Amino acid sequence: MKVDFHCHTTASDGSLSPIEIVDLALKHEVTSLAITDHDTTSGYQQALNYAQKNQLQLITGVEASCSWNKHTIHVVGLDFDIENKLLQDGLKELRKLRLERAESMLIKLNSKLGSEITDLENKLWNLVDKGVVGRGHFAQLLTEQGLVKNNQQAFKKYLMKGKPGYAAIEWPDISEVVGWITQAGGVAVLAHPGIYKISSNKLNRLIEDFASAGGQAIEVVNQPRHGAEITGMADRAERYNLHASLGSDFHRPEQTWRGLGWLAPLPLKSKPVWELFKTPICSQT
Ligand code: MN
Ligand code: MN
Ligand code: MN
Repeated sequence: MKVDFHCHTTASDGSLSPIEIVDLALKHEVTSLAITDHDTTSGYQQALNYAQKNQLQLITGVEASCSWNKHTIHVVGLDFDIENKLLQDGLKELRKLRLERAESMLIKLNSKLGSEITDLENKLWNLVDKGVVGRGHFAQLLTEQGLVKNNQQAFKKYLMKGKPGYAAIEWPDISEVVGWITQAGGVAVLAHPGIYKISSNKLNRLIEDFASAGGQAIEVVNQPRHGAEITGMADRAERYNLHASLGSDFHRPEQTWRGLGWLAPLPLKSKPVWELFKTPICSQT
């Protein structure tokens, strides 16, 4: 079996449509996939029939934004009831916050760059299409318009805190977001614990708070990460009695270091997250 429980489609900031992501998963011989778009489950809904027709198991998924001690944290929800009202209402609220932020960012960037990019607003919404807007879309737009060399530079120059296009979002607290997922019958997973810019002690406190809110797993394997970090996260999962998840966080094929389903196996001592699923994981290879 080959699983990947973290990836994005055009329903948020990925470049492949939900159908295309299913095709790529099949090509990479993934047997069980969770589409985890930012703050929406619409990618899953668009891909479900096609995945079933092609015998790819789709687990329900989402990557929800929240806050912990003023840090923005991502929590992946897996194997929940997609119809759950409290969860869907919560996600709708997150999308509203994203829209409000995008509107403030447009105003700020227009006043900074209005003479260099015409019609910033329409260009942005064309790019976002029907997806959920994120800062990645702004980065892509600034890159495409030639104002910066790449997305990373777009963040550095315009989109990070303290830069001219930055606008803050006050995400709901992590305990609230974990609560939405668990009461919908799902498993809350702390996403990519290695990327938050916090000390090792602070990360331990985050994991403790996440676990006491009802979080049950952390992403032990996430691309691209090296062996030492996998071991470190597996140790933490063990220490806090959490299960271990794995996901590529795939966004687009151009990120060649981050392939859908290309993941190191979970360390042997880790308890696989799917042991917590109500849905039995497809184990054919
Ligand atoms: Mn993203
Ligand atoms: Mn994330
Ligand atoms: Mn992600």
